[in-house]
Amino acid sequence: MGSFLNCLIYRLENNLPIFVDLLKNKPWKFSRSFCPHCKKDLKWFELIPIISFVIQKFCCRSCHRKISWQYPVVEIITGLLFLLIFNSQFSLSAGGFNEFLDLGIFEILNLVYLLTVTSLLILIAVFDYKYYIIPNKFIYPLILLVTGYQLLLTPHSLLLTTIIVSFAFATFFFLMTVLSGGRWMGMGDAKLVLFMGLFLGWPRIFLAIFLSFILGSLISLILIFTKQKTLKDIIPFGPFLILGTFIALLWSDYLIGLI
Ligand SMILES: [Zn+2]
Repeated sequence: MGSFLNCLIYRLENNLPIFVDLLKNKPWKFSRSFCPHCKKDLKWFELIPIISFVIQKFCCRSCHRKISWQYPVVEIITGLLFLLIFNSQFSLSAGGFNEFLDLGIFEILNLVYLLTVTSLLILIAVFDYKYYIIPNKFIYPLILLVTGYQLLLTPHSLLLTTIIVSFAFATFFFLMTVLSGGRWMGMGDAKLVLFMGLFLGWPRIFLAIFLSFILGSLISLILIFTKQKTLKDIIPFGPFLILGTFIALLWSDYLIGLI
């Protein structure tokens, strides 16, 4: 999946069709991955996540130019997050894998839902990190998906709180964007916060935003002190919001218990 997300990122940032062979009436054949520098098609052994990258000493076998660190980093993060989310649903250490084997359709759909949200959040984090933009083509499907899920499955009493809290936080981010003329936050961040509220509910949304501000300030300070960024640079906030979302999703019980 991490490898596939990298492929989606590359195709989207270069305005390439995603299912090019689908349009050529060859739906069984997904177009092959290629080197972004020399455009040479990659063989199967050049496509093994992480391993090929290390064996080829971080270079393309044909043109010997460096492969971006984005590829292994996205692969490792995707793998880790999928494992952590699986573990949060079915504890692996407590025989959760056996539990997984006799799952009902509801549990499987729930897992697919969580992993789809995770994949879209990884895409958004990479895009915001690289281009300081949260594309609508990722954030709108995410908001739609989470709204559908909550409308179907959340009890009415909780639903109202979730919606009110989500809009309250999103409005706060919207106002920060307007007041700062887009310098502190962007409109994409407000939409992302709306999603986070609907996805996490109260009080996890509060924890997620609190953590993103703490981590965002801490990491920005480190970047400024180590002279990798200056005060004038833009540091995108989306990746921190997404980091906060994953921490709140995975460890909210533990963290809220600490307070
Ligand atoms: Zn190459």
